[in-house]
Amino acid sequence: MLKVIVLGPPASGKGTQAVHLALAREIPKISTGDILREAGQAGTPLGLKAKALMDRGELVSDDDMVNIVRERLAREDAQHGFILDGFPRTVAQAQTLDTMLDGQPLVIIDLAVPDHELIHRMEERRVCSKCARNAEPGSALSDTCARCGGTMVTRADDGDVNVRQHRLEVYKRESKPLLDYYRARATFRSINGAQAPEKVASELAAAIDAMVPAGVRAASGTPGRLR
Ligand code: AMP
Repeated sequence: MLKVIVLGPPASGKGTQAVHLALAREIPKISTGDILREAGQAGTPLGLKAKALMDRGELVSDDDMVNIVRERLAREDAQHGFILDGFPRTVAQAQTLDTMLDGQPLVIIDLAVPDHELIHRMEERRVCSKCARNAEPGSALSDTCARCGGTMVTRADDGDVNVRQHRLEVYKRESKPLLDYYRARATFRSINGAQAPEKVASELAAAIDAMVPAGVRAASGTPGRLR
């Protein structure tokens, strides 16, 4: 049973790589950013509260995030493994995840990308205004969502230069310490995320295969849902 977390700064490719891996290993990709954006579009109280924070480039509270992830991981499709994209983002969230997993093996992948490349990617990135998903790799400049036909727009938190900069600062302050939290573990790998997405995907797959025994990483047989 393969359980993976993908760490890295905003626009480092976590979502793209998590989708790829989820399809390949037939396990669900769980993106906390997607869950929050959907809740924001649905207008739930938590969604609206989160949207205000996200639009300013701030993090949503650890308590809210832990509740969301606890509920999501309890669902049937996550019982055969999962890929978490965007969680944990603080050391407190990582500590709670460790408690939830209670010693079950966890693969930790860090995607390292320099700031100038992150800024460039945030400027280019588009998200669907209808289904809230990121553009498929290679279709970043298309105006129409390849999945649902919705209009592709710049993410609210990508469009403003100050918010972009602030998110990088928040990453360095709140999320970068996760690298020290996880680095000493045998199942931690840092990958050069500035390479072409296909190259990152193949290095990521190879890293997992090298770290995790075949019996543990075998596909579960349960079709993965990408959410
Ligand atoms: P992402 O789509 O992963 O870039 O996340 C977009 C935004 O959602 C972040 O900038 C945060 O405001 C919020 N968010 C997503 N995941 C978390 C988390 N684990 N902890 C706190 N805030 C989060």
